Amino acid sequence: MKKNILAAALAAMVTVTALAGCGSAASDSGNSGSTGKTLTVGTNAAFPPFEYVGDDGNPDGFDIALIKAIGEKAGYEVQIQDMEFDSLVSSIGNKIDVAIAGMTVTEERKNMVDFSEPYYEAVQNVLVAKGSDIATAADLEGKKIGVQLGTTGEFIADEIPGAEVSAYNKAVDAVNDLNNGRVDCVIVDKNPAEVFGAQFSDKVDVLGGEQFDFEPENYAIALPKGDTELAEKINSALKELKADGTYDSLVSKYIEE
Ligand code: GLN
Repeated sequence: MKKNILAAALAAMVTVTALAGCGSAASDSGNSGSTGKTLTVGTNAAFPPFEYVGDDGNPDGFDIALIKAIGEKAGYEVQIQDMEFDSLVSSIGNKIDVAIAGMTVTEERKNMVDFSEPYYEAVQNVLVAKGSDIATAADLEGKKIGVQLGTTGEFIADEIPGAEVSAYNKAVDAVNDLNNGRVDCVIVDKNPAEVFGAQFSDKVDVLGGEQFDFEPENYAIALPKGDTELAEKINSALKELKADGTYDSLVSKYIEE
């Protein structure tokens, strides 16, 4: 499985697929599905193993499979729209209906959107060049840190004393700048960090755990504020998928080997 994910991650580096389709709050479309409605789902397909561009050029990954399974249970035709992570929250309710993108529930985002029940627990990791002197949180002070724009990794890096933070649209671009020495480390979520770590195993190490003591984060689906009907449908579909084993099988297919 890991091989597939890595191949997909590589494909994601060179391919940006902009899918057509404009969202209109779970609009009537006459499509199949028991409610006959389309759910336009925003993602950023450059965050393996949660979302990446698959071999066929379409977004794939844990989040994509999960939202498709949710759509099936809740009676929506799911249409995926690939966009920049930093534009997802502000696009909900206009370009897209909801977003699934390894998105952490934060108080700041909650001012703009609602969130589903959490579906995955995550934490930040630090990618360093092999032989780096960075080993603990204190070592990050004053360092050049690469992050993905608008992510929790960026918010954390911004608080580190003396750090010089460079924000990239894609996490892999930060990793590329680590590899060519423009930054000293990259702060990014654990699972993508592990994928990049495996992809560049001759160049980088993945650090985390108690030496850094980052707060646990929860991923959830971002929803239009106040749409309790949609939230209920999505939450009950998620609950069913956890109960019937689908959720666990997606975790083993995409995240665990
Ligand atoms: N979990 C991080 C966040 O929500 C990163 C998500 C991502 O880059 N797709 O900010």
